[in-house]
Amino acid sequence: MPTITEADVRSALSGVNDPARNQDVISLGMVQEIAIRDGNVAFALEAEPARAKALEVVRRACEQAVLSLPGVASVSAVLTAERRPQASAGPGASAHAISLPGVRSIIAVASGKGGVGKSTVTSNLALAMRRQGLQVGILDADIYGPSQPRLMGISGRPQSIDDRRIRPMTGYGIKVMSIGFMVDEERPMIWRGPMVQGALEQLLRDVEWGELDVLLVDMPPGTGDVQLTMSQRVPLRGAVIVSTPQDIALIDARKGLNMFRRVDVPVLGFIENMSWFACPKCGERTEIFAHGGAERAAAAMQVPFLGGIPLHLSIRETSDQGQPIVATAPESAEARAFVEVADRVAAALQEADTASMPEISFD
Ligand code: ADP
Repeated sequence: MPTITEADVRSALSGVNDPARNQDVISLGMVQEIAIRDGNVAFALEAEPARAKALEVVRRACEQAVLSLPGVASVSAVLTAERRPQASAGPGASAHAISLPGVRSIIAVASGKGGVGKSTVTSNLALAMRRQGLQVGILDADIYGPSQPRLMGISGRPQSIDDRRIRPMTGYGIKVMSIGFMVDEERPMIWRGPMVQGALEQLLRDVEWGELDVLLVDMPPGTGDVQLTMSQRVPLRGAVIVSTPQDIALIDARKGLNMFRRVDVPVLGFIENMSWFACPKCGERTEIFAHGGAERAAAAMQVPFLGGIPLHLSIRETSDQGQPIVATAPESAEARAFVEVADRVAAALQEADTASMPEISFD
């Protein structure tokens, strides 16, 4: 198989015209962020948001042109909003901060690494908060492996309200937005930092969330640049860090803590997932890993411990079936563990709020 290069991709794309401007997409400077991995190609096409619909044909033509190159296994082209030069911000203003007017608190659910159950915790936490009477939304920012559509049992595509804004999907009374609603699940997603950023910002800004008490952001796993920028640009009220009891995961969790501290986002606490093994047959509790690691680490780092969630077959099964346990078996011991964690998150949030009361000024 020939190895595909960025130059090959550019040359193929220089044959695709934007009919409205009668020039090819390369000359127009529309192609950004070409990423190639094992014959899988991804790139972004920058466009004015108003032209997004019209450019769908061009986007497809671009995919076809690259797909026809020998050695290309898959192509994924996404339209991203054109970056206009920023208007100069006043002193002290953050030029990049995104504001979501109807959303009271945005909370990041983060983890130092993948596979610790961050997404499972996010969906069940959202449902537990809903049971507290709150209006809750989930933004699935884990765009490398969006799992909220599956976890929340939602399929289909979100409807656009006008050319700019889209309505989130709803499952079990929770508003959910995920890149998973827009792209094929089988398609390998290879994104580069700035492209990820663009996609996330669009998901945040262009979604009509309406009035929400809490928006939980299921963060991409890890503590790299993407997570750091995300934590800076989104007005986070706080973050919770999901970890498993093994030491190695805790080391990663520490990195998460440091990252949020660096950008002044209050860490509301640690959640220990897969804390102990609960036997599905007899209910016996077995401490497979040295249970309590997260609690001890939390104490050492002076971060609240928000509770533990057992490793239980029913949590895995209900997640896979899109029937999260807090919604479908709220009285089970596993669901109650999530509810207790949600209560502590709510309390921690209140504490963080009182600690940072907004300044009141009288004119
Ligand atoms: P992450 O978002 O951190 O990558 P996921 O939420 O996708 O992790 O969870 C990884 C896998 O572990 C999934 O198959 C999920 O069903 C399973 N899982 C997560 N938490 C639990 C738990 N407490 N008990 C049993 N299985 C769990």
